[in-house]
Amino acid sequence: MGEPITAPVAPTTKTISGFSPDAGKGSDRKDDFAGRVGRGLLALAALLALALVAAASASAGPASTRIVQTAGEIVPIPAAVPHEEGDMVDSRIVPDLRWIAQHFSIYVTDGYSGPLPNGEHVGCNNCHVRGSDHYNGLAVDVVPLNGTSGKCDTTWTGITRLALWAEPVQNKPALPFRWVGYDGDAGHGCGNHLHLSWNHAPASRFELAEWVEVFPVGSAPPRQPRQPRPKSPPKPPPGPAGGISSVRSGGLSPRGD
Ligand SMILES: [Zn+2]
Repeated sequence: MGEPITAPVAPTTKTISGFSPDAGKGSDRKDDFAGRVGRGLLALAALLALALVAAASASAGPASTRIVQTAGEIVPIPAAVPHEEGDMVDSRIVPDLRWIAQHFSIYVTDGYSGPLPNGEHVGCNNCHVRGSDHYNGLAVDVVPLNGTSGKCDTTWTGITRLALWAEPVQNKPALPFRWVGYDGDAGHGCGNHLHLSWNHAPASRFELAEWVEVFPVGSAPPRQPRQPRPKSPPKPPPGPAGGISSVRSGGLSPRGD
């Protein structure tokens, strides 16, 4: 009669001891699965965030801009930015040019166009329209590096991407760009050249502008953002002396080519 007493106990113990580890494993497995799903979702979210950043950077120009009020000077374009020999620009747009050259395969065919203090002439002569930003060193004409000249083919794909980044909607350039000349603009476009001008204070021909709007290179949309979260909205650039803020410079040609 001892058995009936021990029998229920033994199976119970067995059941408990047999079941618990399984249950434990089961829940462990479940936790692992949940963890994997969670990590998977996080990865998916990160990918989506990357895609959003990529989409934004492909369509909306630089993430933020700032006004540079320190004095500029006409300087040679650095070697890091492929260019026609002798081409020069306002020093304040050089960091942006470097960034552009790192992300797009460009070759600058003209920058500043005008006299230097030493009397020499830089850039093409009388090839730009009146009021062109080339006369202030704040514009560049670019073509693909090692691209096909005079023919719109696949070598122009990167330049087209750059043009759309700088001007997502025709005649509505993304700041800091003042005027973008490409498809839809006479004398510009795929197979011809892309013109990029930076927004700046009104300035006379062959004079340096009091301020120039640029995109801070550190905050320009990088290919691999350091943080997946969108950044806090950029602070509006400090208005230049006189209280004019980010107003596209008037008084110049409506086009800056
Ligand atoms: Zn131009």
